Amino acid sequence: MNQYCVGIDVGGTTVKCGIFTYNGLLLDKWEVPSRKAENGRYILPDVADELKKHLSEKTIEEEDIAGIGIGVPGPVEPNGYVHICVNLGWEDRWPAKELRELMGGRIPCACGNDANVAALGEMWQGGGRGHENLLMVTLGTGVGGGLIMNGRIVTGAHGAGGEIGHIHVREEEEESCNCGGRGCLEQVASATGIVHEAQRRLSRRKDHSKLRVYGKALSAKDVFDCAKEGDIIARETVECSMRYLGIVLAQVSMIADPEVYVIGGGVSKAGNFLLEMLRKYYEEYTPILKPEQKAEIMLATLGNDAGIYGCARLMLEND
Ligand SMILES: [Zn+2]
Repeated sequence: MNQYCVGIDVGGTTVKCGIFTYNGLLLDKWEVPSRKAENGRYILPDVADELKKHLSEKTIEEEDIAGIGIGVPGPVEPNGYVHICVNLGWEDRWPAKELRELMGGRIPCACGNDANVAALGEMWQGGGRGHENLLMVTLGTGVGGGLIMNGRIVTGAHGAGGEIGHIHVREEEEESCNCGGRGCLEQVASATGIVHEAQRRLSRRKDHSKLRVYGKALSAKDVFDCAKEGDIIARETVECSMRYLGIVLAQVSMIADPEVYVIGGGVSKAGNFLLEMLRKYYEEYTPILKPEQKAEIMLATLGNDAGIYGCARLMLEND
């Protein structure tokens, strides 16, 4: 019987690895540096060497492993093909096929985009536990999204499914987003966006604000902390960001109607203060839903481990 599954979350600086039991207990966890030399050709061989060591230490046999899931920080085609992954230097790669061969050819492997597998991890053992329809929102340097419907990742025809960071929300925005567009959610609700938004207000206005003492070192955490203390410009900034995010979640509800939104990433450390503000706007913009039909908005609970959980869960998708 297959009693274990393995999650391999490949990042730009380290690869996080975990061995799980079939029902989601993390037995062993370690990291391998991402050797990016020569187009990242050593990354998967390094992972395979370490994985073999950890499996033999735990006396886990090949036939006891349901599979190995791999998360990649970039677009992954539905068949697992990676055309290009800038963060790793990869071009035209089949990570699942390659790792399967490196591990001896018999253990099934699958591959997914890191934001999507993190969403699957939060569904399995994190903030979305007990729900099969959810959207995970990662508020970090950018705004990532992973949509799970009926327990499965929804990537759509071109992998853009769930990419809420680039939904256009602000018509009057004059600066460009990283995607080449203008007025994207990411420009106002990511950590970078929140800081930028606060700085714009500070330069436009003369009123006193504690935010001014931070100068160029201002972080999204500072903006939230000052907002909690009642600083007016900070408060207006986070209200503005959460309003746009609330509008987008309300829009997602009209398309996919998830049961729960799971909010993760560094910005989510603002906790209940952020959740309450976000719920207020989400509720305002979903008048069509009765109170009991509105989605719950929760915090992610797995932090940086969401990826390895989701990668492992990827191998149980075809139960
Ligand atoms: Zn964009």
